[in-house]
Amino acid sequence: ELKYECPLSKEELGHSTWNFLHTVAAFYPENPSEKDKEYAYALINSIAHLYPCVYCSNHLKNYIENNPLDLRSSKTFSLWLCRLHNSVNKFLKKPLFNCSKVLERWKYGSKECQKATKLNLN
Ligand code: FAD
Repeated sequence: ELKYECPLSKEELGHSTWNFLHTVAAFYPENPSEKDKEYAYALINSIAHLYPCVYCSNHLKNYIENNPLDLRSSKTFSLWLCRLHNSVNKFLKKPLFNCSKVLERWKYGSKECQKATKLNLN
C-alpha cells in the first residue's frame, strides 16, 4: 500500500517543536557559558521570527517581550519554557502542566521510562 508523507499540520509542527525545545532546555548546562546563553537566546528568537504559523509566532514574540528569557541554568530555561507552553495551553483550553515536574518529564523520566528504553539521552 502506497503511503504519502504529507506536510505538517499546526498540531504536528507544534508537538515536534515543543518536544525539541523542552529537550534542549532540559539538557542545557547547569552553569552555561556566555556562548551557551547567546546560542539559546538566538534559538528562541529565531523561532519567534521564523515559525511558520503567524499567530503562534506572535504569541511567542509577545511572551518574550513580557517575560524576559531566563537562561541562567537548565532549570530556569526549562521553567521559562514550561510557563510559555502553559500560556499556549491556557489559550487553547488544554490542561496545564505542573512545572515542578518539568525536568522529570523531559530529562530524568519516571522509573517506567527508565526501564522502557535504553535509547534515552541520559
Ligand atoms: P503539545 O502542546 O504539543 O505538547 C507536547 C507534550 O509536551 C505533551 O504531550 C506534554 O507531555 C508536554 N507538555 C504540555 N504542556 C507542557 C508544559 N507547559 N511544559 C512542559 N511540557 C509540557 N496551536 C494553536 O492552535 N494556536 C496557537 O496559537 C499556537 N501557538 C503555539 C505557539 C508555539 C510557540 C508553539 C511551539 C506551538 C503553538 N501551537 C499553537 C501548537 C500547540 O501548542 C500544540 O503543539 C498542538 O495543539 C499539539 O498539541 P499536543 O496535544 O500534541 O501537545
